[in-house]
Amino acid sequence: MPDATVNLYDLPRPALDARLASWGFSPQYRERVWTGLYRDGVTAPGDVTGLRPDLQAVIQERAHLGVLATHHESFSSDGLTHKLLLRLHDGQTIETVLMRFKGRATVCVSTQAGCAMGCVFCATGQMGLSRHLTPGEIVGQVLHVTRVLRAQGESLRNIVLMGMGEPLHNYEHTMAAVDILVDPKGLALAPRFITLSTVGVVPGILRLADEARPVQLAVSLHGATDAERAALVPAGRRWPLNELMDACRYYVAKRKRRIFFEWTLISGRNDTAEHAHTLGQLLHGMDAHVNVIPLNPTVGYDGGPSVPDAVRAFQDVLTSHGVPSTVRQRRGIDIDAGCGQLKAAVERKPRRSLPVAS
Ligand code: SAH
Ligand code: SF4
Repeated sequence: MPDATVNLYDLPRPALDARLASWGFSPQYRERVWTGLYRDGVTAPGDVTGLRPDLQAVIQERAHLGVLATHHESFSSDGLTHKLLLRLHDGQTIETVLMRFKGRATVCVSTQAGCAMGCVFCATGQMGLSRHLTPGEIVGQVLHVTRVLRAQGESLRNIVLMGMGEPLHNYEHTMAAVDILVDPKGLALAPRFITLSTVGVVPGILRLADEARPVQLAVSLHGATDAERAALVPAGRRWPLNELMDACRYYVAKRKRRIFFEWTLISGRNDTAEHAHTLGQLLHGMDAHVNVIPLNPTVGYDGGPSVPDAVRAFQDVLTSHGVPSTVRQRRGIDIDAGCGQLKAAVERKPRRSLPVAS
């Protein structure tokens, strides 16, 4: 592995330009490299076409592309969800999920290997944090699925930063990746189709608002009182609901955008009419939309998903508060497509299949 060389996917356009300029590339050749990486989708620096031979030699010698290898993959029974476990250069593995709705493919991307936030029902939280991903490792996931889609004549529309990890705990690298993804001369993904989901890292939300980052924001609530929320989401102790909701209101006012809230529905735990009323009151007067997600059970947590009647009743109460909501089924439950679940399952297998001493 050419560790001494730079992974070009790590560099947003201005940084790549500066690097290439220092290597003697004129603006025209710098643009050629960018479009080679993100329009043509080359998989090695030497494959960028249209460069002078001396420049091609330089780039081959000093750079590499962090193309991610498939460690494991599976498809849901309906074929619409393609779950990938991708391997990083240091052997870490991360999850990327490609979901196909009619004509609009969506990729769910990881921002960290593991997660430090410890939400009790989340398979990634149960693993702890290994490390942040670099911008190139985030971009590399998108490029990976773009290649899969391209081979089938399809293209990518939506990106959800909802895979493993907490994107606002890895703010700089996540935003560098977003800058690369939306560059009009590269992948040119539409910012309004990029959704960042956070557990509620207040300083990160304020920064997103101040920096006018063009992503859609989704905030994971799961509890509408501090005590109930903190029991599921330990980060709720660090950033209590009054601070979190102030940050959300600031975001809405500054960005003039609606916020999405996520609520994982756990049977008997946070899915009663009373819970829904408390949530409705919390969101009163705010431009908010709630996505309710019946729990995808994980090995490390004994809760179960809410039954369909409870889900409907929960939504009815929200409607009575004027709060719109949508049920999001976690797709591909049959292939461990919940956050962190494929990695947990794949890495459990060796232990499961240990020979029994006779
Ligand atoms: N760290 C970010 C983004 C990744 S998790 C966040 O927490 O928002 C994306 C969403 O999936 C979150 O709303 C999270 O609470 C939810 N989630 C995680 N594990 C789940 C599970 N087992 N069942 C249902 N939703 C889950
Ligand atoms: Fe981390 Fe999000 Fe999982 Fe919580 S739900 S542990 S923040 S990945």
